[in-house]
Amino acid sequence: MNHKRIQRCALRWYAKNGRDLPWRNTGDPFAILVSEVMLQQTQVARVIPKYDAFLRRFPTPHALAKADLRDVLSAWSGLGYNRRAKHLWQTARSIVARQSGRMPSDPAALRALPGIGRYTAGALASFAFGRQEPAVDTNVRRVIARAVLGRADASEKEVWAAARDVLPKEAATWNHALMDIGALYCRATPNCLKCPLRPACAFRARSAGAKNTLQERASTKHRVSRAQAGAYEGSRRQHRGRAIRALTTAPSLGLLQLGPQVKEGFGKSDLPWLLDLLSDLERDGLVALNRRKTRAALP
Ligand code: SF4
Repeated sequence: MNHKRIQRCALRWYAKNGRDLPWRNTGDPFAILVSEVMLQQTQVARVIPKYDAFLRRFPTPHALAKADLRDVLSAWSGLGYNRRAKHLWQTARSIVARQSGRMPSDPAALRALPGIGRYTAGALASFAFGRQEPAVDTNVRRVIARAVLGRADASEKEVWAAARDVLPKEAATWNHALMDIGALYCRATPNCLKCPLRPACAFRARSAGAKNTLQERASTKHRVSRAQAGAYEGSRRQHRGRAIRALTTAPSLGLLQLGPQVKEGFGKSDLPWLLDLLSDLERDGLVALNRRKTRAALP
């Protein structure tokens, strides 16, 4: 195992080339929590302006906890996956109710908060509290699997164990470095020629003779993700987002008023479809339907 070498390559590269992102310049655990939740399914470039605006509106767990869910969803608009906003709001309420507004630093206590999984707990513990914890997101997963284990198909369990083994004492800097290397070089199609881990990477060393297979697999993955991006247009996810956005603008809306804001060319025959969509959102706690199911509102 050449852990030291991998660590040296990553940390040296990061010192000169790490991405300067707003949430990396703060030690405020709540601001870091907001960034982590936003980044879960949204790209960095879209998160940056929303992150600043959200924190201006809700600068502390107390401010977020006492806000109406309607205002939180409105501030979240444009980021998608509204369930994350609701989880963040519930997390703030839980931090205020159980921890007097102070975020815990222990990963197990962080994971007990709503919507905080293993990755987010590790990220918060290392970035906000300087704890020696790994944080394995999708990007880091690829880097650890390839560079440390030498296999792109390593299991979740193997990757987390390797992430803990290779973790240096500068855990926060290391986690940031791996996130950047995963985002910039060790992507679905890895750019090994320019990657700073190249001299130490186990996968690179092993796969030198199997390059074509890797490129082939990677480009298939690429095609799939392009197709997925195109599939957003007209998808249920898009319609769910539109419904929430429309409902942030009025106390409640009749289904015939709401429908055209959700689906182009909406007609009466689309009412069962709309009701099904809204019932889904209701099950997720994002929408409330009145008793006769003729009007919808935010809860
Ligand atoms: S050398 Fe290639 S496989 Fe190894 S970490 Fe860098 S991009 Fe990934």
